[in-house]
Amino acid sequence: MSAGGGKQDALARNGAAVKPDSARTIGPGATVGILGGGQLGRMMALAGSAMGYRFVAMDPAADGPAAQVGGSIEAAYDDRDAASRLAGRCDVITYEFENVDADVAAMLMEQSYVPQGSDLLYTTQHRLREKRAVEAAGAKVAPYAEIRSEQELRDEVNRLGLPAVLKTATGGYDGKGQWVIRSEEEIPAAYAELAKAGTELVLEQFIRFSKELSVIAARSSHGEVRVFPPAENIHVDNILHLSIVPARVEASVLEEAERLALRIVEGLGAVGLVAVELFLTEDGQLYVNELAPRPHNSGHFTMEACRTSQFEQHVRAVCGLPLGNPSLMSPVVMVNVLGQHVEPVVQRITAPDSEAARLSAVPKLHLYGKAEAKYGRKMGHINVLAPDTDAALAWIEGTGIWQAENEA
Ligand code: AMP
Repeated sequence: MSAGGGKQDALARNGAAVKPDSARTIGPGATVGILGGGQLGRMMALAGSAMGYRFVAMDPAADGPAAQVGGSIEAAYDDRDAASRLAGRCDVITYEFENVDADVAAMLMEQSYVPQGSDLLYTTQHRLREKRAVEAAGAKVAPYAEIRSEQELRDEVNRLGLPAVLKTATGGYDGKGQWVIRSEEEIPAAYAELAKAGTELVLEQFIRFSKELSVIAARSSHGEVRVFPPAENIHVDNILHLSIVPARVEASVLEEAERLALRIVEGLGAVGLVAVELFLTEDGQLYVNELAPRPHNSGHFTMEACRTSQFEQHVRAVCGLPLGNPSLMSPVVMVNVLGQHVEPVVQRITAPDSEAARLSAVPKLHLYGKAEAKYGRKMGHINVLAPDTDAALAWIEGTGIWQAENEA
C-alpha cells in the first residue's frame, strides 16, 4: 500500500472523529458493526453483549473468533457492497484493526455512524505521520528520519549512530518489516530488503530501553477521558509474552506514562481506545514507540483485573455512554497462549489444582476459538490474578509451559 496514494488521501479528507456536541448516545439493544472479526472483535462483542448490544462483524473468515459470538458478514475487508450491507444492519460502526481500507472507511462514514472517524486510522497506518502526531501532542519519540534512498540511509545512519532500526512506514506488525542495523556493512542488504515493501521507510535511533510499557487511554464520543494502569510488557521473538500489572517501575514513571497517554488521546481528538507503547530508559525517559487505535493485546489484563475491561470501555466510548472506572482490583500477569501452548494449557487448566496454587493464584483462561493452533499464532491468553505479581509469575513458571520463553 503506497502511503502517499489517492486512497490514503481519501481517508484523510472527511475523517474527523465526531465532535462532542454532535455525538449520539447509542443505547443497549442497538447493533454495533465491527470491521474485522478476530479475537479483539470477539472480546468486544462478548463485553458489549453483556450490556445488551448486538454485534455484526465483517471478516473474510467464515467462522472466525467474532463470528462465533455474534452476527457476521463474510467478506473481504475492501468489499464495498458488503460494507454497505454492514451499514444497513448497524446503528454504529467501529473497527478492531488499524489497516481498514480507506475507501470502505469513507463510504461507511457517509452511510452510517462512525464516531471514531478515519483521521486516526490515517495517522496510525503510517509511522511517519504517527510520529509527527505524537510529537505534536507533546510526547517524545526516538530520533528518526525518513529514508528515500540507500544514500539517505547511509547519511542518516551517520547522523543517528548505530545500532539503528530501519522500518517500513506501513504494514509492519510484531517486528515484521524491520531490520536492526548494527554495522555499516548491513546497509545495502537492509535497504534492499525493506525497499521491497514499496512503501516509505523510517530510520529510528536504537533506544537502549530498560523496560517496555504500554498504556491504554479511552476517550468517549462526548469527550470524556480515562486511562488504564500501565502494563510492563515482555516480548519473546517480537511477540508479546507477558503483561505485568502493576508495572515494576517507580510511581513517578507510572504517572508520567498515564499523563502521556491522556495527552495523546486528547491531542489526537480520538474516540475509542488508543494504546500507547513506550520505551523506558535507565534514566527514566519515556519514548513513544507506536500507537494502536483499538483494544490491544497488552490490555487483556483488564478483563478480570480492572473494574472495567478495555473492551467494555471501547463499547462505552463509541456508543457515547459514560466511561467506566478503569482502576485495578488485583495484581495480575497476562500470559499469551500461542499455538504451541494450547494443548499443555488446556491440560493444566482442566487438571485438579493443588490447594496452595488455588489459594495464591487464580488463572483465568480465555481462548479465541481459532481452529488451527499454528506455532506462534495467538490462540488465547491467561490472566493470572494473585496477591502480587511475583506470585502470578511463579504460577506461570510453575506450569513449565512457557519454559523456553522464560529462558529466552
Ligand atoms: P514495533 O513493531 O515498532 O513495535 O517494534 C517491535 C519491537 O522491536 C519493539 O517492541 C522493540 O522491542 C523493538 N524496537 C522497535 N523499535 C526500536 C527502537 N527504536 N529501539 C530499540 N528497540 C526497538
